[in-house]
Amino acid sequence: MNTSILSCDKDPMGMAIADFFHHQKADKLRVLSSQFEEDEIPVKDLFRDFKQMSALERKALQLASGKILDVGAGSGCHTLSLQDMGKEVYAIDISPTSVEVMRQRGVKNVQLINLFSEQFTEKFDTILMLMNGSGIIGQIGNMPIFFQKMKLLLHPGGCILMDSSDLRYLFEEEDGSFLIDLAGDYYGEVDFQMQYKQIRGDVFDWLYIDYQTLSLYAAEYGFKAEIIQEGKHYDYLARLTFA
Ligand code: SAH
Repeated sequence: MNTSILSCDKDPMGMAIADFFHHQKADKLRVLSSQFEEDEIPVKDLFRDFKQMSALERKALQLASGKILDVGAGSGCHTLSLQDMGKEVYAIDISPTSVEVMRQRGVKNVQLINLFSEQFTEKFDTILMLMNGSGIIGQIGNMPIFFQKMKLLLHPGGCILMDSSDLRYLFEEEDGSFLIDLAGDYYGEVDFQMQYKQIRGDVFDWLYIDYQTLSLYAAEYGFKAEIIQEGKHYDYLARLTFA
C-alpha cells in the first residue's frame, strides 16, 4: 500500500486543478490505462458545485454528519459544499498543489497527508470517499488494510459514505450474459496513469467494486453495509457503518 504524497513533477491532476483555479481554463487532463482506450477528465468538472453534482454525491453530502473527513478532496468541491452547509469538515489529499488550491479557495481544515499514512490517526464520525471513492483502495487485496484503517479513524457508530461502479457491464455479451473470468483477478481492478501537458504521473491501481463484494468484505470486518441509492449506470452510493 502506497503511503506517500505526490511530488509536484508527478502530479498532473494537481497541475490541472491549479491551472483551472488561476486561469478559469485548463488543457486536457488525459487518462491512460493498459485496459481501456485513452480518456479525458474535464477539469471544470472537478470544480462542480452542489447543483452540478450527481444525485448520489448530493445524497452523500446531505447524509454526512458530525466530524467529517473528505478523503482525496481534490479541488475541495465536496468540502466547500459541506462548509457552506455549516458542517464540520476536514479535507485530506496527497497532492501538494491541490492542497494549496483548497487553502486558497477557502477550505478551513486541509492537510497534505495520505489516508494510509501511520501518522494519520484522527477520529471522525463520517468518512466521505466520492468520485469512485473505492478507487483509493487500489486492489481487492488491500481490503484488510483499508478496513483496519477505517476502524482506527472512525468513532463507534461512525460511517463511510462511498460511491463506486460495478464494471460488469464492460463484460456484457450481446445476448445480455456476462463473460467474467472468475479465476482471474477481480474484474474491477484497473490501472491508470494521468497526463497534463508534459507532466505524466506514475501508474496507479484503482479499484471499482460491485456492491455485493463490498458488503461481503464490510461484514467480515465488522461493518454494516447498505445501498443508499443507485445511479443511472451500474453506480451506487453505499454506507458502511462501524457498529
Ligand atoms: N474527491 C474529488 C477528487 C477525486 S480524484 C472529487 O470528487 O472531485 C482523487 C483524489 O484523491 C486526487 O486528488 C488524489 O490526489 C487523491 N488521493 C489519491 N490517493 C490518496 C490517498 N491515499 N490519500 C489521500 N488522497 C488520495
